[in-house]
Amino acid sequence: MSALRHALPRFPGVWKSVRSRQSWTSVRNFSSSPVTRASWGFVGLGQMGYPMARNLRAKIPTTDSITIYDINKSATDQFVEETKSAGPGASVTIASSLQDVSRASDTIITMLPQPKHVQAVYGEFIAGGLDKSNPQLFIDCSTIDVKTSLEVGSSIRALGHDFVDAPVSGGVVGATAATLTFMLGASDLALGKVQSILEKMGKRVIHMGDPGTGIVGKLANNYLLAMNNLATAEAMNFGIRLGLDAKKLASLINCSTGKCWPSEVNNPVPDVIEGAPSSRGYQGGFGVSLMAKDLKLAIAAADLAGAKLILAEPARKLYEDAEAHDDCKGKDFSVVYKYLQVAGN
Ligand code: NAD
Repeated sequence: MSALRHALPRFPGVWKSVRSRQSWTSVRNFSSSPVTRASWGFVGLGQMGYPMARNLRAKIPTTDSITIYDINKSATDQFVEETKSAGPGASVTIASSLQDVSRASDTIITMLPQPKHVQAVYGEFIAGGLDKSNPQLFIDCSTIDVKTSLEVGSSIRALGHDFVDAPVSGGVVGATAATLTFMLGASDLALGKVQSILEKMGKRVIHMGDPGTGIVGKLANNYLLAMNNLATAEAMNFGIRLGLDAKKLASLINCSTGKCWPSEVNNPVPDVIEGAPSSRGYQGGFGVSLMAKDLKLAIAAADLAGAKLILAEPARKLYEDAEAHDDCKGKDFSVVYKYLQVAGN
C-alpha cells in the first residue's frame, strides 16, 4: 500500500480508514431461525457477471440467499428461470432497487461496465442508508479507474463497511468455467474472507496489497496486453506482406523472443490458431471497445502516478478508430489486424 499511497497523495483519506476498519461479521444471524444463513447480493449480470453469479450460487450453501439486480430486466429474469430448472440451491430474489440489494445482503458483488456505473450504483447504496450496526462487505470486480475505486471504497469504509477491488482476467470463458484470476486490493483483515468468496468464481486470487492495488495490477496487465496485441498484428502484417507464410511466421515468433499471449493463443491473423476469435470472424473474446476503455484507464492511472507512457497515445487512437469502424466494431480486440487492412495501412 505504501507505494500507492506515496504515488497518490491526492487521496489522503483513503488509507486512514483501511487500517482502522474493524472486521465485519461475514454472516448475519437471523434470531427467528435456528440456521445461520448468509445473504449475498449480485449487481450487474452481463457477459461476465451472469456466469459469475451462477457459479457463486452453485457453491454457496443451499440455505443461503442471493439477491440480484440489473437494469436489464431480461438478465435477472433469465437467471431466475435458469435457477428453477437447475434444481435445489440457494434461493434467488430479484431486487426492485439497489437499496433492496443492500438491505438484503451481507456480501455484495458488483460487476459493472465503467467507472460511471460503479459511481452510480455505490451512490445509490449510500443514499439508501447503509446500516452501521450490520457491517457489510462490498466486492467490486469491475475494471474501472484507480481514482474512482479509491473514492468509492473510501466512502463505503467511512460508513463502517468494507470495500475491496477485485478485477478479473480470464474473460467470459473463465467466468463460465469459474477459472478467473482475481487481482485483489484488500486489507489483510478482509483477505481471508474475500479469498474464499472469490475462489467460488475463479481459480486464482492474487492479493496485490491494500485497496486500489488490484485495479492497478489489472490496468498494468491490460496495458501490456494492448501493446502486445497491436505489436503482434503489425509484425504479422508486414511479415506476411513481405511474403512470409502466416503460420510459419507465428511458429517462428512463438519459439523466439517475440512470443506473447496474442502471438501464441490469440493470434490476430485468421486461421493461424484454430479456435482463436480471428479464425471465426473475430467473434466472441474480449471486445475492442473494452480494450479501448482499459487503455484509457491505464493512461489515467499512469498520469496519476506521473509515469510516462510513450506508446500509449498512438495505440489509444488505433483502438478507438478500430472500435468506430463498421468492419471492426463489436469484435474481439485482435480485430486491429483487420483494421490495419481495411484502413489501408
Ligand atoms: P456487460 O456490459 O456485458 O455487463 C454489465 C452489466 O451491468 C449489464 O448487464 C448492464 O445492464 C449492467 N448495468 C449497467 N449499469 C447498471 C446499473 N446502474 N445497475 C445495475 N446494473 C447495471 O459487461 P461485462 O463484459 O460483463 O464486463 C463487466 C466488467 O468486467 C467491465 O468493467 C469489463 O471491463 C470487465 N471485464 C470484462 C471482460 C470480458 O471479457 N467481457 C474480461 C475481464 C474484465
